[in-house]
Amino acid sequence: MAHTQADLLAIADRTFIKNYRQQPMVLTRGQGSEVWDLEGKRYLDMTAGIAVCCLGHAHPELTARLTEQLGRMVHVSNLYWNDQEILAAEAITSRSFADRVYFCNSGGEANEAALKLVRRYQHVVAGQPERTTIISTNGSFHGRTMATVSITGQAKYREGFGPMFGPVAFVPYGDLEAARAEIAKPGACAMILEPIQAEGGIIVPPAGYLRGLREACDAAGVLLIFDEVQTGTGRTGRWWGHEHDGVTPDVMTLAKGLGGGVPIGAIAVTERAAAGLTTPTGGAVPHASTFGGNPLATAAAAAVLELITRHDLLAAVTKQGEHLAGKLAALVAAQPDKALEARGRGLLRGVAVAGNASQIVGKCRERGLLASLAGANVVRFAPSYLVSTAELDEAVAILSGVLAEAPAS
Ligand SMILES: *Cc1c(COP(=O)(O)O)cnc(C)c1O
Repeated sequence: MAHTQADLLAIADRTFIKNYRQQPMVLTRGQGSEVWDLEGKRYLDMTAGIAVCCLGHAHPELTARLTEQLGRMVHVSNLYWNDQEILAAEAITSRSFADRVYFCNSGGEANEAALKLVRRYQHVVAGQPERTTIISTNGSFHGRTMATVSITGQAKYREGFGPMFGPVAFVPYGDLEAARAEIAKPGACAMILEPIQAEGGIIVPPAGYLRGLREACDAAGVLLIFDEVQTGTGRTGRWWGHEHDGVTPDVMTLAKGLGGGVPIGAIAVTERAAAGLTTPTGGAVPHASTFGGNPLATAAAAAVLELITRHDLLAAVTKQGEHLAGKLAALVAAQPDKALEARGRGLLRGVAVAGNASQIVGKCRERGLLASLAGANVVRFAPSYLVSTAELDEAVAILSGVLAEAPAS
């Protein structure tokens, strides 16, 4: 007999390590920007799997491509080439500054690969093994593996897991002078940052910040990594978040939206930086992943990039992002004591709220809206690139109603 939602929640309660705090429903199906739970309740999805399902749920063309690939081949390992990874690599390099890519399975893994690349670049290629310090920013989020949690600039993610990977130097996000001082130190290896701090609360840095970092890194021989796990693959209305600032990194890390929901991570790098993970003499492979370049995952990535191009979705993200920004600004104007500030770019948007943000997100869910928290007090909207104006309006109306009834803080 089929399980009820209550049955499944009871099984989950006794079988899972309780590291997450899922909302109390079991999702079974999605279509576009809507999802349904096991009891048939419909939710409007402004999380898109945390900025992952960039084409929405069950996109017909992506589904057809994945289904076809499942019937052909799912995995071969890196002992051999597969056609899909090659097409996906070219889809990334032809849309970016990058000359070369490496595929892995998640954002944390992409940042791990980036850290190994920059360390080995300084050691083997530049001949400066003393350059080991990773410069990162306060409030950043780079993943949950030991090394990536070590470079994440939020103490709550590191508590109890020490000792950490290091050396790491943290600087305030957006403060060019502070970063310059660290970059100039003789032990500096690389700086890593998000073009917009997403998990940290949708923080857009001041204009000229990324450019200033690029210049300082070039002058010092320090590599620059942009963590585009959340801002990449069109989320901000350009292919990559750094395009808004007119600068390119040495290494860009990708995941989240890249597979449209299928797990994949990647690093995309310049020819020069690629030497950090290359053994020209044919010696031992410096870095690897069993699943990396998996045909199903890379078919997803190639299809996502191609569909964004074919359906002109960067323009759609910009247009719908501006519509959403206008609605959120109106919300802030209407309820200035509850909604403090609206910010973001493209379809990565947040509203800072005065009340208990996690309670507000919970109340939104009860009323059929899925939104997520970013930072301590920001309600994040990161919907599908195909979200309609009517869906955005409905979402903001639900949030507005919840805020109107929230106790003043
Ligand atoms: C989500 C995220 C990560 C971690 O990605 P996982 O796939 O969860 O390992 C890293 N960096 C940024 C900017 C992210 O948003």
